[in-house]
Amino acid sequence: PGPQIPHDPTKKTIVVLGSGWGATSFLNTLDTTEYNVVVISPRNYFLFTPLLPSVAVGTLSARSILQPTRYVTRHKTRFVEVIEAEAQSVDPVNKTVSFIDNSDIQGAVSSTSISYDYLVYAVGAEVQTFGIPGVDQNACFMKELNDAEKMQRRFMDCLESAAFPGQSEEEIHRLLHMVVVGGGPTGVELSGELHDFLEEDLKMWYPELASKIKITLVEALPSVLPMFSKSLIDYTVSTFKESKIDILTQTMVKEVKDKSVTLAMPDKSIVEMPCGMVVWAAGNKGRKITQDLMAKLPTAQTNRRGITIDEYMQMVGTDGSIFAIGDCTASSHAPTAQVASQQGSYLARSFAQRVKGDKLKAQLDELEASAATILHDDERKKVVEEAESVKSQLAKFKIRPFNYSHQGTLAYIGSDKAIAQLPVMNGSFASGGVLTYYFWRSAYLSTLFSLRNRTLVASDWVWTKIFGRDVSREW
Ligand code: FAD
Ligand code: NAD
Repeated sequence: PGPQIPHDPTKKTIVVLGSGWGATSFLNTLDTTEYNVVVISPRNYFLFTPLLPSVAVGTLSARSILQPTRYVTRHKTRFVEVIEAEAQSVDPVNKTVSFIDNSDIQGAVSSTSISYDYLVYAVGAEVQTFGIPGVDQNACFMKELNDAEKMQRRFMDCLESAAFPGQSEEEIHRLLHMVVVGGGPTGVELSGELHDFLEEDLKMWYPELASKIKITLVEALPSVLPMFSKSLIDYTVSTFKESKIDILTQTMVKEVKDKSVTLAMPDKSIVEMPCGMVVWAAGNKGRKITQDLMAKLPTAQTNRRGITIDEYMQMVGTDGSIFAIGDCTASSHAPTAQVASQQGSYLARSFAQRVKGDKLKAQLDELEASAATILHDDERKKVVEEAESVKSQLAKFKIRPFNYSHQGTLAYIGSDKAIAQLPVMNGSFASGGVLTYYFWRSAYLSTLFSLRNRTLVASDWVWTKIFGRDVSREW
């Protein structure tokens, strides 16, 4: 038995898995008048990921970049059920999803399943560790809110342990060495934020230690930020040099130990680098539930990067009842928030169109059924003509395919500087510096989904400027 919901049996049920960029954008845009909608996600909020590194160093408070999913759904015309649970499996044949409550506190019922007419699959991705030893046990991640909180605690712990009386110089240097793995935008932005924390706050609060803090960014490829133009990569590298952030390129992390990382250097030598904290920002991979779902469609779903979808977001190989958006998919677009949110709002609009198509189909079925029962010739002719007209309307009925509109790529690189690669006419415009930083701030402020979050983020920026970041270590 599924959960009891204010269910209208005459309407189709959309089950949405996830409450991230794709799902939230879908819910924001969806007209719920014609559908029963149920959202299932292990976290009952939306997380504004672009500002997560700012939370990790205390520039912003966590609450400022979260939006409870119920804030989105309560404004809908019809009730939308929000269930805090983790989907365990999808049965594409019987059209059901089973899910469990895996939170700390559970009631008498903690697992059940639900039927769907349409499934909007937006579960995102998880951190890719490539099976490298010690990553899970010894590194922090930068993907979810608890990752940022854990990193903040660990960072402050390293500082306080370095300040412990009698610590040797060697141990102080180890504890104050922060290693960020992955020179994609997450790793670069986090390194920049750590540097700001050091310059703007730690020099004041830990004057005896601040000069010993070292940040190293390790990247396996020959360059950081491959999605940006050469000029912006060079600008980032020179800014990091000024900020005394070391970049090691063509260097692969082979193991993360309790007190060090093992590096394969460009000359193939193996180096053991002591450190106090490792942040793993080396990319993402598909979740197990996604791999399991794909395995149920072995001929159609063969892309190892994620779910193959068509231009209508339909999962290839299904009967048109499963739609997948965002990081769980493998499309020609990069796995970004920008893509996921455009896919989500597109899908919601296409559901509004789908209602029209469904209504026409139902009307046609009804007319054809009644034509078969009418005995009087003239009356039947009238109904058949009407059915033909509906049929021709149905033939013309088309849902427009998804069309991605790239708005540009932005990244914060620390020291009040950002880089931007913006599309113009047939090419792109590259800009970097302090002005771009203000553009970055205003762009993200306007992208935040609610006025509440905009106000919280803007006021956090002001408070941090005036009072600095908090250096107390939460337990
Ligand atoms: P997510 O936003 O990750 O959402 C997935 C949702 O599914 C979550 O709510 C999760 O709780 C839920 N879920 C997980 N498992 C299950 C399950 N079993 N059942 C049900 N629900 C489940 N992109 C940009 O374009 N610009 C940026 O500046 C940018 N900055 C970033 C900074 C950081 C630190 C990070 C980590 C990412 C950044 N990204 C950025 C990338 C962007 O966050 C992702 O591309 C985006 O989140 C993808 O959206 P999504 O909806 O597919 O997945
Ligand atoms: P990423 O996949 O973009 O980068 C990960 C990097 O880690 C790669 O360059 C890879 O070569 C490196 N790496 C992997 N294994 C390694 C190892 N063992 N040793 C050293 N280096 C290793 O990951 P990301 O930065 O988390 O970004 C994920 C997605 O989110 C991307 O699509 C990105 O565009 C998007 N994102 C965008 C922004 C932004 O626009 N500002 C910010 C963050 C994330």
